[in-house]
Amino acid sequence: SRPILQVRDLNMHFPVKKGLRQLGTVRAVDGLSFDLYEGETLALVGESGCGKSTTGRAVLRLIDATDGSIQFQGEEVREMSRSRLFQLRREMQIVFQDAYSFLNPRLTIGESILEAMEVHGLHTKQQRADKLSELLDIVGLNDSYAGRYPHEISGGQRQRIGIARALSLHPKVIVADEPVSALDVSVQSQVLNLFQDLKDKFGLSYLFISHDLSVVRHVADRVAVMYLGKIVETGTADELFDNPQHPYTQALLSAVPQPEVAVARERIILRGEVPSPMNPPSGCAFHTRCPIATQRCQEQVPALAPSAAGTLVACHHVEGGNPT
Ligand code: SF4
Ligand code: MG
Repeated sequence: SRPILQVRDLNMHFPVKKGLRQLGTVRAVDGLSFDLYEGETLALVGESGCGKSTTGRAVLRLIDATDGSIQFQGEEVREMSRSRLFQLRREMQIVFQDAYSFLNPRLTIGESILEAMEVHGLHTKQQRADKLSELLDIVGLNDSYAGRYPHEISGGQRQRIGIARALSLHPKVIVADEPVSALDVSVQSQVLNLFQDLKDKFGLSYLFISHDLSVVRHVADRVAVMYLGKIVETGTADELFDNPQHPYTQALLSAVPQPEVAVARERIILRGEVPSPMNPPSGCAFHTRCPIATQRCQEQVPALAPSAAGTLVACHHVEGGNPT
């Protein structure tokens, strides 16, 4: 399979000013590179503020990157014309944490989905009506939902509607930004299963953004762990969950219950909070919280390099990792 989306050296740097004085630069995304392959789910994982949502929005050009490259099927997203961008936003859809944020509260669910297809000039009126009914069925709802308003249905049902609306435009890529984080755990797995079924059925690729590793474990083929705008470790879901190498990944995973593991991992408690992405720590930005940091970590930025476990890891003190 080949990459449908290639991101290289993506930066999202925002100057922070007070009056005329520049206080610093927020490095929301800092030198990020990854590939999303056709038909896979790549999870971007990290705590709030690590830049994962910003990345998702930059990929769709809902916000403009400072520099770097974003290629969708080999075409530079950052150089697309307005009309091309309009098409792109059919081919790449975003599903948010709560469908409230994009469903028009004054339109019925049916009207919202029909409108999306109409704006993009898809099908005849009759075909759109048929499609609506088909889509509701596909996401596990029925025709009776078409006449309801967003506030009349549950959070889980709204997410299904958000997915139906995205699907109505025949996307190739879906950016799912914390799509189940607002849902009860019991509903979460139903919606995650729906994501899985649809991926195969429609040949979709997912950029799946989540802070929740137990959710990610459920859906991801590959995982990229982010900390302060950078990827600190990336690999297949199996490599990463079975044998995490980066101290940050190890700490995140130690907090996730793993029913299939006989001996539970010891919980690693990190000191302090995630530092501000404005003027982040020098060297390895994780050094202020890392249990094994050394002097070198404060001075040198570790690059992503292959670890003995198969993942790529950015750490000076991982076996097989960063060469000096
Ligand atoms: Fe910790 Fe140093 Fe590795 Fe960063 S480079 S994760 S501070 S050991
Ligand atoms: Mg977010």
